[in-house]
Order: sequence, then C-alpha cells, then structure tokens
Amino acid sequence: MTSQEQKFSQIDEVSSCFCIAKWLQVTIDLVHGTNHSCHHPKRHKIPLDQLAKDPSALHNTLFKKQQRKIMLEGTRPPECSYCWTVEDTEGRGISDRYIKSTDPWAYPHLEKVKQLAWKENINPTYVEVMFDKVCNLACSYCLADISSSIANEMRKFGPYPVHNKSHRDFQETAAELVGEVNPYVEAFWKWFPEILEDLEVFRITGGEPLLNSNTFKVIDYLGSSVSKKLTLAVNSNLCLEDHLIKKFTKGINQLLVEGRIKDFELYASVDTYGQQAEYIRNGLDYSQFIKNVEYFCSEAPSSRVVMMCTYSVLSIPGFDKLLKELSELKKKYSNLILDISFLRHPEYLRANMVTPDLVTKIAGDIELMKELATFSEYEIGKLTRIYDWVSAGATKDQNNLYRMDFYSFVNEYDRRKGTNFLESFPELGEFYTVCRKTKMLLG
Ligand code: SF4
Repeated sequence: MTSQEQKFSQIDEVSSCFCIAKWLQVTIDLVHGTNHSCHHPKRHKIPLDQLAKDPSALHNTLFKKQQRKIMLEGTRPPECSYCWTVEDTEGRGISDRYIKSTDPWAYPHLEKVKQLAWKENINPTYVEVMFDKVCNLACSYCLADISSSIANEMRKFGPYPVHNKSHRDFQETAAELVGEVNPYVEAFWKWFPEILEDLEVFRITGGEPLLNSNTFKVIDYLGSSVSKKLTLAVNSNLCLEDHLIKKFTKGINQLLVEGRIKDFELYASVDTYGQQAEYIRNGLDYSQFIKNVEYFCSEAPSSRVVMMCTYSVLSIPGFDKLLKELSELKKKYSNLILDISFLRHPEYLRANMVTPDLVTKIAGDIELMKELATFSEYEIGKLTRIYDWVSAGATKDQNNLYRMDFYSFVNEYDRRKGTNFLESFPELGEFYTVCRKTKMLLG
C-alpha cells in the first residue's frame, strides 16, 4: 500500500510542479467556449480552428499543452498561482496539486500520463461541463455569465453601485457570437462517445441543467451503454416544475437500477432556511425545493444527494432552522449529506466581515449540529472551518469597504427585486446600521 507521502514523492519525481489535473481534469464552459484545468486557473478560450480539426480541443488546447510542457520541464505555469502560493507558505504546504494528483480519478493514471509526450492528446477522467446558462433563479451572489436571469437583470438595470462592479457583469455568449448553433456543444457530442470509456466523473453544471435538453440527452445516451466506473453528477436548484423533476428522477434511477453507471450525485443548492433562503436565491420557492429533495431522495434511493450551502453573511441568522430541517430529513433519507463552503465572491457578502454577536451565533450552530446527532464529523467540520475563518475576521480596511458595499448592494437589490432586507433579516438590523454608518462616514 502506497502511503499518501509516498504518492506525493512520486508526483514530485516527475517534476517539482507536475500536476495530473492538467492532463486529466477539465471544466468546460460550452456557452463561452472556454476551459480550464483544474478550476483554479483562469479560463482560456478554445480556438474554433483547433476545434474544427479535432473536438478533443475542448480539453487539449494548444495553450494547455504548453502549460503541460513547462510543467514537465520543471517550470511553474503562472496560471497555477493558487497552488504555488500554498506551497510557498511556511511549513508543509499541501496544495491542490498534491491533493488532486492523488485523487482516485488521477493517481492510478500516473504512469500513463508520465509516458505521454507533451504534444499528445489525452482523454480526461474528470469532466465538468456547462451546456447552457439558462437559469430560472437570480441568486444574490451569482454571475451573469452563468445565469440568464442575472444577465437580463444587468441589461435592464446596469451595474450595482459597489466598488467592484465586475462581479455581476456579463459578456455575449459564444452561441450569440456565431449564430444559433453553438459549435462547442456540437463538438461536445462528437467527443463524448470517444471519452466515455475513460470517464470516471462527469458533472453537469449550469445555468440550471434540468432546463437544458442536453442534460436529458446525456441521461438517454448513458442509458444505452454501460459505464461501470462512471460517477455522474448534476447540480440543480430543484426549483422546477413537477414534470421535469419526475422525468429527471426516473431517468437517473433507471441508470442506477440497470447498472449503467457506478454512482449518481445530485448537488442541490440552498444557503439557509425558508424566506431568508428565498431572499438569497431570488426566484427560489423553499417549500418546493424541500419537497423535490424528498421526492428525489425517496425515488432514487441509491443516489447521493448533497445539499450545497454557500455560506454568506445572509446564511447566519436562519442557519439553525435549516440544520433542524436537514436533521429531520437525514433521519428519513440516509443518502442525504450536507456540504458547506464559504462564499468568497462578491466580497461584500462574505461572512467574515460580521460583528462579534453574529460570530457567536455560528459557534452555537456548531453545538447544535453535535446535539442533533445526525450530522457526521465531516459535516460538522465544514461549519467549524467556517467559524474559524469568520472569527479570524477581515482587516479593518476590508471591513470598511465590504460593509459599505453590503449596504449599497442590499438597498439596490431590494429596489430591483421588490424585496425588503430589514423585514427579511430583522436579526441583521444592527449589522445593517453598522454598515450604513460606515457608508455615511467613508462612502
Ligand atoms: S497545479 Fe494546482 S492550479 Fe494547477 S492544475 Fe494542478 S491543482 Fe490546478
């Protein structure tokens, strides 16, 4: 059995900056015709001339091959600065380069990747794809580039009156630039049959994937083949009409029952409880969401359902109620798990700019998770890490800037959406006053 440290050494033996993700993992945005591997480097354009010659350019662009080349030569690709920063900190910096390279979809292929000349194409084992950005929600923290509802809002109202205006800004899609047929989606369907045999993880993101016919085309395609090592994953806001939820659930359950794929994971997003969750994710119907979670859990029982919480300042007041609701659901459905990550962008919604009383609330929620006795150590650890980050706080300058922008953002958001922040979040009234005073003094 090779230990984790031995695996790390084997990775470094290839070169001090070698990373298998550069060969085997890709996130492809078929709307704008870009990709990156892994998700840390900036997305780069997939040139249409390269794609016309070979659909594998969806992953194996000349640009990416150059990055692989310099990695093999022992030079750090600048686009991977996320990892170099971690590795240059004091102590043993275990960057994602090590973590990803030793993941189950990467490490077993080390020898194959090592033997490959830098110019060669390779099939990825981990693919994440966005077919479309059509989405029925316009979440407060989301981007115009991945939600048509936000793009429409930004066309109508323009930028928010905050310091960093780029967050919700948008650009024209590849499909809009080249006509009705999207060449990237066309190339995907030529390429997918070629890579299926090697695929271990295939994840569909959006937009809302259930609103795009390609998601159902994938399910149909997989229903006519057998992919024994494939984990299929789909993100969804689950705030959709019953007929779509039923069609989707039936299709996935059939894939599992017939043994067409190894596993299925549904990533369903909600960030706090009830009406406050509806404020954060504009367009969400919380009751419908919970009803659909229950439906999927019970009708596709051998799948895994991950509740994804993007934890922002707005998650804090009602998070205990969400935990209690999830705890009851977990008693009924053993296939349901909670995942919490902290929101980084936009900065003005970050939880680490809050006042001390709200930090105490998070500590109480960690205790609540323990008392409920339905959450695993892994799940509790996720909220504990958020507590550590929030309690470390931001710098004074960051607090001032983010609080001013928070105040400006929620007022403008209320104007655009017809919502009322103080009625929705009475527990954040004092924090709102702090932000307003900061804006009056410094804004
Ligand atoms: S080195 Fe880091 S940033 Fe670059 S591909 Fe690997 S994991 Fe991603």
